[in-house]
Amino acid sequence: MSIEELKKIAIQAIDDKDRQLFDVNQQIHKNPELCFEEFKAHDVLTNFLEKEGFQVDRGYFMPTAFRAVFSRGKKGPKMCVLCEYDALPEIGHACGHNLIAEAGIAAAIGIKAAMESSQNDLGHIVVYGTPAEEGGGGKIKMIKEGCFDDIDVAMMVHPCPFDAGFVSILSLMEMTVTYEGKNAHASGYPWEGVNALDAAVQAYVNISTLRQQFKPSWRVHGVISNGGVKSNIIPSKSQLIYYIRAPSATELKLLKGKCENCFHSAAQATGCKVKIEYDVENIEDCYAALKNNVHLVHLYKKNATSLGIKFLPLDEEANLPSGSTDMGNVSWEVPSIHPLYKIDTEAANHTPEFTNATCTEQAHQQTLIAAKSMAMTTLDALTNADILRQIKEEFSKSVNH
Ligand SMILES: [Zn+2]
Ligand SMILES: [Zn+2]
Repeated sequence: MSIEELKKIAIQAIDDKDRQLFDVNQQIHKNPELCFEEFKAHDVLTNFLEKEGFQVDRGYFMPTAFRAVFSRGKKGPKMCVLCEYDALPEIGHACGHNLIAEAGIAAAIGIKAAMESSQNDLGHIVVYGTPAEEGGGGKIKMIKEGCFDDIDVAMMVHPCPFDAGFVSILSLMEMTVTYEGKNAHASGYPWEGVNALDAAVQAYVNISTLRQQFKPSWRVHGVISNGGVKSNIIPSKSQLIYYIRAPSATELKLLKGKCENCFHSAAQATGCKVKIEYDVENIEDCYAALKNNVHLVHLYKKNATSLGIKFLPLDEEANLPSGSTDMGNVSWEVPSIHPLYKIDTEAANHTPEFTNATCTEQAHQQTLIAAKSMAMTTLDALTNADILRQIKEEFSKSVNH
């Protein structure tokens, strides 16, 4: 059977389950669950996959993670699609992870149907359910458990207001800065106080001043999460929470040092003590920058284009706004892609408008196209040893140089 015939079978299998897939994304959208609490989504997805004939491991290393596998033969490559399904506080599925979950399971049933129709033993399709993308880094925990040791290629897609194959994803670290000073009556004895709010404001201004010398690709943004309790008390405690982002671990380290100087100098100027805490112990455990596998992205784009998708020109893709994801970490373990696909909204992710746009029929149809593109790309690599070799060679060179 030709690759084109196999792709047609995958597309048909996805279309055949159109309504069931829509129902899965709606159920997840209606029950938004936060990081590591995605129990309902986990159950909806694993029940679906089991019914479709996958061998499912529920609660895989974490209560809301899963692994589902379909194999054709014992040997052959292990291709992986990833689902995310966590939501955001208050604004629900404002990042469209209900659609990411749908895309993952839709791609998987398409690939399975093609594998079953082939006269050859093609290998394995693995679906990972990965919790807590919006903070918590479920994929980083799964990497540490060795979940990607036996995987050859990993892919996922993400809804967005545009179509892009090459995505720039930044490395991310969270810093929590606490200043400790001394309370005093703000009118009666201000000279006896040590003002922790002044330290926080000074730190904020230090960083804002330094921003002019930041590289355009760096991002530093924070809030003052504690600025004291009452105007007539000199605050003895203050706290800032900052996210810092850069395109590589090396640059993130550099940026971290610059920010630490800002925080320490504010402490010195105001006479406060400072404590800086990090969301991870090592910079290696941060959300990593994404390594796009060029071969895989080209294949994905070719397949998506054949289904009518029009990608942005390459120079525009390179300048798109970027965030961070733990898929970045996966991309340093195995050849990976994380294309963005357009749903019908002008609003950016993480807004209530985007939440409303992720439950429409149109968003569902766009999700099926992205799922079909992943299925077709997986089949390209499963049926052609040369293609898989090129993908892997590119990966080895890019992580070893
Ligand atoms: Zn998000
Ligand atoms: Zn997201």
